[in-house]
Amino acid sequence: MRIKSLHVPTLREAPKDAETVSHQLLVRAGYIRRLAAGIYSFLPLGVRSLKKVKAIIREEMDRAGAHEVFMPAIIPAELWQESGRWKVYGPELLRLQDRKQADYCVGPTHEEVVVDLARKDIRSYKQLPVNLYQIQTKFRDEMRPRAGLLRGREFVMKDAYSFDADVAGAHQSYQKMFAAYNRIFSRLGLDFRPVEADTGNIGGSMSHEFQVLAEAGEDAIVACDTCEFAANVEKAPLSDPGFWVPIDGAPQVGPAKLVETPGAKSIESLCQFLGCAADQTIKAVLYMADDQPAVAFVRGDREVNEIKIKKVLGCKALVLADAQWFAQTTGLPPGYVGALDPTPVKMVADSEIKAMPTAACGANRKQHHVVNVVPSRDLRHVQFADLRMAVAGDPCSRCSGRLRSFRGIEVGHVFYLGTKYSEAMQATFLDESGKQAVFEMGCYGIGVTRILAAAIEQNHDARGIRWPVALAPYEVAVLPMAIAGPAAEIAEQVYAELLQAGVQAVIDDRDERPGIKFNDADLIGYPVQVIVGKRAAERVVELKLRHSGDKFEVAIDGLIDRLAAALTIARAGSALSSSSLLP
Ligand code: ATP
Ligand code: MG
Repeated sequence: MRIKSLHVPTLREAPKDAETVSHQLLVRAGYIRRLAAGIYSFLPLGVRSLKKVKAIIREEMDRAGAHEVFMPAIIPAELWQESGRWKVYGPELLRLQDRKQADYCVGPTHEEVVVDLARKDIRSYKQLPVNLYQIQTKFRDEMRPRAGLLRGREFVMKDAYSFDADVAGAHQSYQKMFAAYNRIFSRLGLDFRPVEADTGNIGGSMSHEFQVLAEAGEDAIVACDTCEFAANVEKAPLSDPGFWVPIDGAPQVGPAKLVETPGAKSIESLCQFLGCAADQTIKAVLYMADDQPAVAFVRGDREVNEIKIKKVLGCKALVLADAQWFAQTTGLPPGYVGALDPTPVKMVADSEIKAMPTAACGANRKQHHVVNVVPSRDLRHVQFADLRMAVAGDPCSRCSGRLRSFRGIEVGHVFYLGTKYSEAMQATFLDESGKQAVFEMGCYGIGVTRILAAAIEQNHDARGIRWPVALAPYEVAVLPMAIAGPAAEIAEQVYAELLQAGVQAVIDDRDERPGIKFNDADLIGYPVQVIVGKRAAERVVELKLRHSGDKFEVAIDGLIDRLAAALTIARAGSALSSSSLLP
């Protein structure tokens, strides 16, 4: 492609609303343009990179035995009423009416539509298993669309749905998708990790997110430094450290003692007042769980994990309690709620508290705390469970290793659904014994447009994008340093030969200063730049590898073949090395 005729409107300045690097660079380098909050147009370069992502996904989905379909974006409300989601999905669902005032929504995900397809056409176990996927535009009216393609309202997703006759089959389908996802993200050249994820209200243990490791990620992940364990902190189970047992010779702790602590309503002020550290205190977090008051206790330096609390309490909705409401309904004083006395309120405590040798804790009396609390001795009325948020340094629950923490961008999600949708929508088939049975399902999503942003978050520098070869809109940019003379002639020759060798190349044939060509090439992120300048007459060019920053002079003869060969390997997901390009 000749850059003169290519529509690549690069910008010097990033738009004001772009806080993340990928958002800034995608706009500045001419890949996308904003139409409205969370809604973007793709320009030619953006379309090329997007096509590459889609092609890799299609190849691997097909290889895994899935079949591509294409479902409508506009879905009649009846289907969503059948599944029950019309009521519970909330404002993220964009609802609309046609001219006859019939209700529809713009699909944020397609379980309902695909279940409807399956129940109409799959009659017998002999037609199973089936896995149907599509690459399609979704709409979710996200409360906070942000970071360009990272969290849009309109975005492209690959969604797949497996149908099996039984649980064992569904697990197999899940494993196939898990393996396919590993191949997809490896081929895209991303540094990623599959992590165990929360299964929400569906339950079960089968859900993994594929997380691209990047600082800009919204997800917190922990991974063991020794074994394979990795999980979203929302899910990460922590081991029970057991009860504290005094070691021989440890000083005896006297009985629990009531002390006056005026104004010490927070852990910080309590520590200041008592002259102790936060990990020697017990923090009470007050909740409204399905309209009932509840208290969760964690060590003062810890954060609660509300997903774990919700599971232990077995409630549908869990929100922080309004202090006044809590005081009125329970008679307990917020800021001084403690774990020692029996109360009519449901009280759960993190298992780590049991292991504290001694602690300070609320006294259920205004302006008072209790000190010298030995939790293993004194806490008789709380239910202990794993309620804390995992942090770096925590022991791994699977081995003797330690957890490390990362930020991640969720680019994919595999999920064992069971019969949630097939039951709600009465999607049945005749099983081997001739009885009606409901489908066992799995669903598998990939954020196709989000991948572009995630790849940039992971691959950029101050000058611009450093695409993995698999994602670059073009692989090589030929940059003639003059528009006439040997540099221009040799550049044209190199460009023609690259195209012949099957390399995706552009030539910057604009009458611009070298500085502008370099800036644009670095910004756009072509993996290889072939700079044709001073030594063109000697048939020597300069090569720059955008990812490593390596720059070296090399003779043209033999170069095109080596370049084509090296790119063939790099297209599969590995990095380009300068040694493969030298004679
Ligand atoms: P998130 O927690 O980021 O909102 P999700 O759990 O709602 O994601 P899924 O419903 O599992 O996401 O959707 C499948 C995939 O679609 C996700 O793994 C993600 O890569 C992508 N995705 C979800 N929401 C968005 C969005 N608003 N913009 C871009 N991609 C998205
Ligand atoms: Mg979401």
